[in-house]
Formats: sequence, C-alpha cells, structure tokens
Amino acid sequence: MDYRKGHHDLGDGCHAWLQPDGSWGWSNSGLVVGSGASLMVDTLFDLPLTREMLEGLRPVTDRYPLRTLVNTHSDPDHVNGNELLAARDVEILASEPAAALMTQEALDAVAKVKHLPGTLGDFARHIFGPFELDGVTATGPDRTFTGQESVDVGGREVRLIQVGPAHTPGDALVHVPDARLLYAGDILFVGGTPIAWAGPIDRWIDALDLVLDMDVAAIVPGHGPVSGKPEVSEMREYLVTVEAQARRRYEEGLDVDAAIASIDLGRFADLPEHGRLAQNVLNVYQQLDPTVPRPDRLTVLTKIAALEGFDPAWITSP
Ligand SMILES: [Zn+2]
Repeated sequence: MDYRKGHHDLGDGCHAWLQPDGSWGWSNSGLVVGSGASLMVDTLFDLPLTREMLEGLRPVTDRYPLRTLVNTHSDPDHVNGNELLAARDVEILASEPAAALMTQEALDAVAKVKHLPGTLGDFARHIFGPFELDGVTATGPDRTFTGQESVDVGGREVRLIQVGPAHTPGDALVHVPDARLLYAGDILFVGGTPIAWAGPIDRWIDALDLVLDMDVAAIVPGHGPVSGKPEVSEMREYLVTVEAQARRRYEEGLDVDAAIASIDLGRFADLPEHGRLAQNVLNVYQQLDPTVPRPDRLTVLTKIAALEGFDPAWITSP
C-alpha cells in the first residue's frame, strides 16, 4: 500500500485519508459509504487540514452525503476539525469517556503549549509546528455510546466497539464487517511508537488481541499506512516488551526515571517517537503502585523530549 497524503479508495465503499509521516498530530481519517449516505471516522488536528480533507473527499461525499462522524477517541488530532462537520448538520458520535474529555479546556491546553517559553515550548513548536491550534471551538458528540453500538450507514452496518481505557480513556474501534475492514484509531500506531496515556497497558494488549481475533483483512491505523494483522502483532510485541522491562525494574526497586533511563528496547529502540517510552514506563509503574505520581501531559512531554535528546535547533518554522 502506498503511503501518500490524501484520499485512498480501499474498495467495498471504504476510504481512508492518510497523513504521512504519522508522527505527532499527523493522523488518519476514514470514510464508509452506504446507500445515499456516508460516515466519517475522525477529523484532523486543525481546521485547514480538515477543510482540505473534506474538499479532497468531495468526489465521494457529493454522491454519498456525510451524515455521521465517529470520533475514535478524544485526542485533538482526531477531533479538532469536528466543528466543520457540526456546521453541516452531521451527527457526531463518541464513546462516553471520550466525550467527557472533548472540552474547550483540554483543547486550549494543547494549543497553549506552543506558546510556552523554554524547552517544553520549544519541543511543542518542533512537534506541533505545522498545525494551527489556536481558535478551534471544542465540538463534542451529539450522542454517546458505551460498549458496542451499531450504526446504520445507508443500509449498511458499521460497528463501534469501545476498547478503552488503553491509549486514552475512551478508545473505540470502528468495524465494517461486510468489507472486513477496521478503522483502529490510535489503538494501532504503525511505523511509530504507541503512547499509553491512559492504560493499563494490559488492557491495550487485550484490545490488540481482540483485533487479531476479528475477521478483518485491512486495518486503517490512527497513524501510519494502511496495514493488517502483522502490524498489530508487531505493536503488541512492543507493548509486551515495555511492560515486562518496566515491571522487572519496578521489582528490582528502581524509581521511574532510573527505569526509563536503563531500558533498552532492542529492535524497537530506534522507532520514531521512541521517547514516548517515558510515558509507557510511567504507566506500568502507576499500575503496579497507585501512589506513583501522575504528572500531566506537559510534564510528560518534557520527559519525552529529554529522552529523544531534543535540541531546539531541530525546530522547523511552520
Ligand atoms: Zn492520534
């Protein structure tokens, strides 16, 4: 599968909008068409990118008007374009825990970090440089679900399956059974490092096992190229490795920072965004000992920057 930016027709009335290189903020969307209607899976990190996608998908949506949007989870790179769909009277769905996090406050906190002084601001300007995060209006769902939900898209069944907390508190999969296709959201990262903001990591591994047991031939990840079960197994192996390594260090009495510094991930060590190991180890420690502090995402970003040896000279202007 070629991994170029834009519209990919996956066959059977299923489409993807891919955004290489899949690193911070470069997320994917999906589109499923039925008779006279379509359903979108996730919007993008900012309004210009989402507008560009909506324009690029018009050859499809002019024939199959957008009726429904599903957000796979609450992270801004999957919901920040929601207001553009709300303005078109598209019904927005998300899991209940995801909906609770899709607030203006959460969105503004991410936008603000690009304006901070110091290393954290520099790192945010490096990873979020290309995105216009100011002036986005938080737009949550019209309807929420928990567990499993079936959505009718012009006579066609699309299944929503809540699997979080894993990557975030409200992760959901979007399954199109008659096309044997799955939109995995950020339950699957391909070609980069997954980050367990919520966890527990065991639960994320369970979600990947569920995917491995599903009757699916193609999987659109939240970040990365269109993939299949081998990529799911590969990411599962990453999580199993991190979990085992972090647990061993916890049992040896190392503190979190010492554990992060001493882990050698072998073949996963050079993955893009490998510094996300910092959050993943922290997550394992928090599961093993609930008294381990839960720093906010910004503090974690500082740890990730340090682990990747971030230098402000890396910053590219937008
Ligand atoms: Zn994402």
